[in-house]
Amino acid sequence: MRAAVLHEIGQDKLEVLDDVEAVGFGPGKVRLRIRATGLCHSDVSAMSGVLPQPAPFIPGHEGAGEVVDIGDGVTGLTAGDRVLVCWLPACGACPSCRRGQTQLCLAGFMNAGTPNFKRPGGDVFGFAGTGTFTEEVVVDAGCAVPIPDDVPYEIAALIGCGVTTGLGAAINTAQVEAGSSVAVIGCGGVGISTIQGARVQGAAQIVAVDPVASRREAALRFGATEAVSPDELGDAKQRITAGEGFDYVFEVVGKSATARTAYENTRRGGTLCVVGAGAMDDNFQVNMFELFFDEKRILPSMYGGGDVLRSYERAIALWRAGRIDLESMITHRVRLDGINDALDQMRTGESLRTCIEL
Ligand SMILES: [Zn+2]
Ligand SMILES: [Zn+2]
Repeated sequence: MRAAVLHEIGQDKLEVLDDVEAVGFGPGKVRLRIRATGLCHSDVSAMSGVLPQPAPFIPGHEGAGEVVDIGDGVTGLTAGDRVLVCWLPACGACPSCRRGQTQLCLAGFMNAGTPNFKRPGGDVFGFAGTGTFTEEVVVDAGCAVPIPDDVPYEIAALIGCGVTTGLGAAINTAQVEAGSSVAVIGCGGVGISTIQGARVQGAAQIVAVDPVASRREAALRFGATEAVSPDELGDAKQRITAGEGFDYVFEVVGKSATARTAYENTRRGGTLCVVGAGAMDDNFQVNMFELFFDEKRILPSMYGGGDVLRSYERAIALWRAGRIDLESMITHRVRLDGINDALDQMRTGESLRTCIEL
């Protein structure tokens, strides 16, 4: 079958090959036919080595498709079911799951060292235990989450990562208050979802911050009340908050420099919410005096910062009610052959989300 493979970490192009096989099917597993997958910034970060990932590997973790086959012991799924791919399946039994924090369950990472695919040349891994830039993938049953019939595959795919991450940061983690001031630094697919989450929560001002003009324009369409380049943020802070700083600042880039900017633009007693996925050797610095004296809350948010299945259901409910716009987030559509163009468009900031149809 066809799949897009990265041969070595650090390469910037994928090779689309016809000789890939999904492996590992058996008890507790399901085989999926992927129909749509989004290109998420974490895919690019794994390719470049910012996020840890063994190679060769097939990127993609934001997917949806149908169940082709179920292994022994799998309950609640049958062949033909329409599902989205959850890259962080909850085991339901560990301390994190029992607390309702399924986004912190580590069970899914136990498979990270096991190849999901093979080729005549050898083993191939799947990103984040999934790997959706492929026609078929074998995953744990917990990674296959049934979706209602009215949710198209391309919408379900977005909910599988970026939308859940961004919405959840505003709703679950920061719990943005009605009438508050918000800044969102980084306006790709996750940042746009954060803006939509802040709007749903009733924020009065939502300032989108991004160096790319097309992303700033997009942010205004999704609920930002104004959009500025990074060097205009100080001015916006002065104007909107009388210099005090925003009630909430979301860092959706994954770099210590932007996290520091976010910290400095958060008001005393306000909330810095870190949504971006960054590197292990990139250290965020806060001195002990400011940490104590300014009482800014630093809240990291992974995969929406709450129960993952609940976050999916809420995203679907908000989308169905027309309170968030997911269709317009898909700015580009390609077949698998167009994946390298899509990667370039993401790196330059030209695309919000590219949907790859399989
Ligand atoms: Zn668990
Ligand atoms: Zn993602």
